[in-house]
Amino acid sequence: MGRLPQGADLLEALTELCARENITAGEVRAIGALTKAVLGFYSQKNREYEYLTLEHPLEIVSLLGDVSLKEGRPFVHAHVSLGDEQGHLWGGHLAPGSEVFSCEVMLVEYQTDKPFERGFDQGTGLLLWPMG
Ligand code: ZN
Repeated sequence: MGRLPQGADLLEALTELCARENITAGEVRAIGALTKAVLGFYSQKNREYEYLTLEHPLEIVSLLGDVSLKEGRPFVHAHVSLGDEQGHLWGGHLAPGSEVFSCEVMLVEYQTDKPFERGFDQGTGLLLWPMG
């Protein structure tokens, strides 16, 4: 459990935390606030992410993510629900460019018997986990 620095890029800070603690499989949860956010939406038709930038303060109502290996390095995949000052909710895939105002993180490490690595999935065009 810990706090992320003000002004940090949320996704980068989570990834750096996993790298520093050598966490290669796990779960991440967080609450806090952002000064701005970038949310991704994966276009299933075009097979690429489309991005929405919100240039105003937001509450991190919830952040839920996982940690696995991508190309041999810890990789955080997280989705966020963000609330604005009217109580309206925005949400999506957490993208680089989301700036921390304050953030409390709970990171849980999982033990795996072999490296838990993402691989290319033909059906979606995404780098996904192995089948469970
Ligand atoms: Zn996602």
